[in-house]
Amino acid sequence: MSRPTEITIDLAALRHNLQVAKSLSPNANIVAVVKADAYGHGVIDVTNELSPHVEMFAVSCVEEAMVIRRGGVDTPILLLEGGFCEDDYELAAEYQFHLVIHSQQQLDFLSVAKIKTPLNIWLKIDSGMHRLGIEANTALDYVNQLRNMEAVGAIKLMTHFASADEVNRDFTTKQLNRFTAVVNTLQAKTGERFALSMANSAALIQYADARAEWDRPGIMLYGVSPFEQNNDVVNQLTPVMSFTSKIIALRNIDTGESVGYGHTWTATKPSTIATVAVGYGDGYPRSAQSGTPVLVNGQRAKLAGRVSMDMISVDVSDLKDVAVGNNVELWGKRLSVNEVASWAGTIGYELVTRMPKRTKRRFEA
Ligand SMILES: *Cc1c(COP(=O)(O)O)cnc(C)c1O
Repeated sequence: MSRPTEITIDLAALRHNLQVAKSLSPNANIVAVVKADAYGHGVIDVTNELSPHVEMFAVSCVEEAMVIRRGGVDTPILLLEGGFCEDDYELAAEYQFHLVIHSQQQLDFLSVAKIKTPLNIWLKIDSGMHRLGIEANTALDYVNQLRNMEAVGAIKLMTHFASADEVNRDFTTKQLNRFTAVVNTLQAKTGERFALSMANSAALIQYADARAEWDRPGIMLYGVSPFEQNNDVVNQLTPVMSFTSKIIALRNIDTGESVGYGHTWTATKPSTIATVAVGYGDGYPRSAQSGTPVLVNGQRAKLAGRVSMDMISVDVSDLKDVAVGNNVELWGKRLSVNEVASWAGTIGYELVTRMPKRTKRRFEA
């Protein structure tokens, strides 16, 4: 048998999570966000699975969108950071990519690009996150410029929330109000009615007012909660990624003996230590602290000492019938990636997205 470290991608769970997202906003068009290799899940398999059920995909840039096209999927794709040069606009026109416009520089690229079919533009308005987007008081000027370009077809308006995952609703409410005010002004002054898009996963779940013609769920499709606290909706989600390995060595150590690099964990009683074939070279976070939960044969045990490149040590002293070859789940259906992430000072988004190439990926229908 080869080294047993792998991630399993449950495509049925992906479909299920999409249904949960759709149930929140039954009339919306779904833009499934699949940037960064579908949050580390494998963008070709994920888009092939979802394409019959969503209206659009979203990625960061043309290069990511081309991977999807080459994978045989012809669903429209939105480029969330828009074009980075003239060529991007020409490719977008050729391959039916929708583009975010968030700056004057992008309008300038668009105005000189040689485009045969009109482009779908998503004008991004900064409603308070101050990351991407045009300022509210320039929106009319942008719409007028866009309307004067032959290369421009439909224009949608979008914004993005900074803290829709938080318990306190004040900031998101402020962003919603600002965005609504811009939309109302634009519609009054142009006489045009614009399709809107606001919600990421957290907003889709928590803010009925943020649900619009086009919603943009990402993390929830992968069965990972965007929140620190669970709620009724996230309890319906099923984790798509399972990260597993096996025990490759087992030993008993005496009280006072320590484990791993830097001997940072010391036995306070005679202990049994399992060595598992997974480390930071496989995507397990090196920052995971001693005590991080690990499932051995479905039972909770604790990480003991530092994470190595290829191995971790787990204190299995309190578990019954542990043997070399036993299955270990690092995260998945019975141990959430968010719980592991909290022991490593990060969030589930980062852990699933940064899985290295080295780790084998297996897809289950
Ligand atoms: C990544 C992203 C999303 C999806 O966010 P989730 O929190 O993963 O649901 C939506 N909109 C934009 C603009 C994004 O960059």
